[in-house]
Amino acid sequence: MQPTDLIWMNGDFVAWENAKVLVLTHGLHYGTGVFEGVRCYDTELGPAVFRNADHVERLLRSAELYYMPVPYSAEQIRAATLELVARNGLRSCYIRPIVFRGYGQMGLNPLDCNVDVTIACWEWATYLGEEGKANGIRAKVSSWRRIGPDSLIPQAKASGQYLNSVLAKVESMKAGYQEAILLDDHGYVCEGTGENVYLVREGEIVTPGQSNSILDGITRRSVIQIARDLGYTVSERNVGRAELYLADEVFLSGTAAELVPVVEIDDHPIGGYREWLDVVVPRDLETPAGDVSERRITGATG
Ligand code: PMP
Repeated sequence: MQPTDLIWMNGDFVAWENAKVLVLTHGLHYGTGVFEGVRCYDTELGPAVFRNADHVERLLRSAELYYMPVPYSAEQIRAATLELVARNGLRSCYIRPIVFRGYGQMGLNPLDCNVDVTIACWEWATYLGEEGKANGIRAKVSSWRRIGPDSLIPQAKASGQYLNSVLAKVESMKAGYQEAILLDDHGYVCEGTGENVYLVREGEIVTPGQSNSILDGITRRSVIQIARDLGYTVSERNVGRAELYLADEVFLSGTAAELVPVVEIDDHPIGGYREWLDVVVPRDLETPAGDVSERRITGATG
């Protein structure tokens, strides 16, 4: 992590190394924080924060869902974000606002603890790597289910909820994959550990909907809008695990990861199935009495 000069902390700009909390901070013990990931891009107009207002709105909504009154307005948080990026002299960066229950009380009732707000930013390359972004990543369907609406709030971006993503991420990495895809209790596809997921099949783009325990991704909203503007059909519906394997393309979207193709899921090459059918077994050439390799392949396709 590349430190910058300043972090915004409860209304002040403080030196990076002084932006500290006490070890008895409530959020550290019980996960009582809500946060955002935002990106600033170097554009022709200068540094520009992508959908800043939408991120701040989601932050405030997440805070409300966890009973955290935020002592700053959306406008103050937006302005502080812009000033922080400018004061740190960054042209492009990742921005991390967090609202959390601070020091004051121990125990599960957080209501008497301060609500602290900080914003940090730093230069952070794309989360799944330039190589992954250009050439795709290998993903594994996690053995961990995505948190459900009966126990937590999938629509909130809350610190404690990310233990679910951490388990899935570590499992996938230890098994040699770069990312995990989580299913819900019914076996429907939800999302990656920090990204929304899409499949493309026969020209249609399909993605799990709001009732599939996903985070309402801000990049997702842009993807859907741009795809529709370009004339693609985008369906938000339940997606079965094997639909991913059978897709022509799968990709992920998120602020940290940006847009990343998925080239393999659970060792199934995505799109490879079609290529294999078209190239290895031409449809107009069915040869049950052909040579051994062709017979094997033809047999395998049933
Ligand atoms: N799902 C989860 C669980 C996430 O953490 C993120 C990253 N915030 C996303 C989806 C993508 O959301 P966004 O495009 O707003 O970054």
